[in-house]
Amino acid sequence: MSWFDGILGPFLCYGLLIALFYQQMYVCEFKVRASAGQRQAIDEAIRTAQFIRNKCLRLWMDVRGTGKAEMSAYCAVLAAEFSFAKTLNSMARQASAERAWAAVSRFYGNCKQGVRPAGYPKFKKDARSVEYKTTGWKLLDPKRIQFTDGKGIGRLKLMGAWDLAQVPKELIKRVRLIRRADGYYCQFLLGIEYRPEAPKTGAAIGLDVGLESFYTDSSGHKEPNPRFLRGDEKRLKSLQRRVSRKQKGSSNRRKAKQRLARQHLKISRKREEHAKRLARCVVLSNDLVFYENLQVRNLIWNHCLAKSIADASWYQFRRWLEYFAWKFGKVAWPVNPAYTSQDCFNCGNRVVKTLSTRTHRCSCGTVIDRDENAALNILRLGIEQYRGALGN
Ligand SMILES: [Zn+2]
Repeated sequence: MSWFDGILGPFLCYGLLIALFYQQMYVCEFKVRASAGQRQAIDEAIRTAQFIRNKCLRLWMDVRGTGKAEMSAYCAVLAAEFSFAKTLNSMARQASAERAWAAVSRFYGNCKQGVRPAGYPKFKKDARSVEYKTTGWKLLDPKRIQFTDGKGIGRLKLMGAWDLAQVPKELIKRVRLIRRADGYYCQFLLGIEYRPEAPKTGAAIGLDVGLESFYTDSSGHKEPNPRFLRGDEKRLKSLQRRVSRKQKGSSNRRKAKQRLARQHLKISRKREEHAKRLARCVVLSNDLVFYENLQVRNLIWNHCLAKSIADASWYQFRRWLEYFAWKFGKVAWPVNPAYTSQDCFNCGNRVVKTLSTRTHRCSCGTVIDRDENAALNILRLGIEQYRGALGN
């Protein structure tokens, strides 16, 4: 998940979810209770994982032809060379190399598809997690885990409602330790495939996202932005101001920053719940869901907080759409958003408008809400593209 860390920062949070689909795995998450020494040990493991990832990336940059296998083999070289690398579990080292390879292969993929910017892999400076695979840890009882490698993390108490005693150990594919603004978390990635088929409804829908409402669909329904968003925005702004008023390097500034980060985390969880509830509802009531293919790499932190929040929310919403579509055997299909707000859904004429023009008026006599017109275009394009793909 490293690729959006830098872009959206604390805005996207995958915490406290009931079950989240990630690379075809379910995730169970616990907050952990850790002593100061253990927190230090976890930080040290995270730093080591980041070091290995960056070193593998360096190898790829320096040595032509470096692939996944070379990176993987390089882990042993690093372990022999650096004692702190050796103390991290060997499969955790491999997992770090895999992260480096993931960044590289994403870059190659983007180059191949002509996606710009292609996202040349970058060195990580503030990694927040370390991933173990099937060794280096063991569950002592359902609510306690022990890390057995040389990092000295030791036993951690798992706080949360999950009961891992029910889960066969072979299903736990990965264990991840994560540092967040409000503490440390432990995630278990489970290789479970559970896909209940939902009844087919025969309906298709196009969704247009915007600032004014959360989305507008092709039947004209406008889903309002959640009310908590407005208040959160104000609170964030005031906390942000408080940070900037404090002297740089002072402990007051550090505390203010922590408060800001915790607030970010809190509201991102609220938004996540909201996005999830909406997405589930949309997928269950439609067989085909079409939406704008907004690239995450186009989401950039800017001065317009409302816009950033909307982008982040939409991204979460989209992930949940894709997840529920997969889960319920439906189709979620991204559509290139070019000209969807300009073209007339009825006759195809291009009616150029500025962002402030809220109504689409066409010479063919069509007068319709701007966003509804866009949603109808998305639906039409989506169906065309989906049919095309099926034909192939
Ligand atoms: Zn028209």
